[in-house]
Amino acid sequence: MSEIKNPLEIYGALAKTNCGECGVPSCMAFAAAVLQGQKKLVACPYLDPAAMARLSQNIVQRRSLEDDHQQAISQLQQQVAGLDFSLRAPCLGARLVDGNLAINSLGKDFIITPAGEMVSECHLNHWVYVPLLHYVIVCQGKEPLGEWVPYSTLPGASEWSQYFSHRCEEPLRQLADAHSDLVFEMLHLFGAKPATLSGGADHSLVILPLPKVPFLINYWEPEEGFPSKLNILLDRTAGENINAQSVNLLARGIIEMFRQLILRHSRDGKLF
Ligand code: SF4
Repeated sequence: MSEIKNPLEIYGALAKTNCGECGVPSCMAFAAAVLQGQKKLVACPYLDPAAMARLSQNIVQRRSLEDDHQQAISQLQQQVAGLDFSLRAPCLGARLVDGNLAINSLGKDFIITPAGEMVSECHLNHWVYVPLLHYVIVCQGKEPLGEWVPYSTLPGASEWSQYFSHRCEEPLRQLADAHSDLVFEMLHLFGAKPATLSGGADHSLVILPLPKVPFLINYWEPEEGFPSKLNILLDRTAGENINAQSVNLLARGIIEMFRQLILRHSRDGKLF
């Protein structure tokens, strides 16, 4: 029998009574949980021992998202480990501190060791870890020109473009609508600088998630009969200093950070 990758193949061997004795509400949920490594086949008392033996040998558990992130970070760390930091620092707009790279992101230092480990007073997650390591590896040191282009024009952005719009720009617009003062106060706290107002926007601010990868955030407040608008533009040089996926991760990380801060600091502790 070939490798089992589909829960239906496990489901086919179950009693299909949805009795719940395995600790999940249905046989289908149990099959999915087994494939994801959250349940063992032995948790179902009604599974025939021969079927259990056969399935056990052929189940390929799906990797968790966390495993994928960790693998991506490990691969990037291996590439960082071969770099000469004294040559990379000026290219990245970073400082060399005791043999480590200090990269400023939104006013906070992130220290990267020669082994690719990261240290910061900020919370570290894959939204910051992956793009920073990637930046260390690929940044060509192009100085931003102050010419702003949409995310969709970045090389390789086509498959991420919709995601960027739905998971980055739209959630930030909603946050700005619901907590305008708080959002702009946070942007200023994270070093945002006013930019020339773009396309009639009410607010145009430049932030620096990476020293050579600025974002321009434009926000149009809602007006009678017209909803608000928000876009995040990139410098024309962005594609030479980082890739589209890392820009996406950075933007997502910033928005998630804002969501957490708003939950903590808004008057009613609610996002909307
Ligand atoms: S114990 Fe077995 S039969 Fe009952 S719901 Fe779970 S998988 Fe289905």
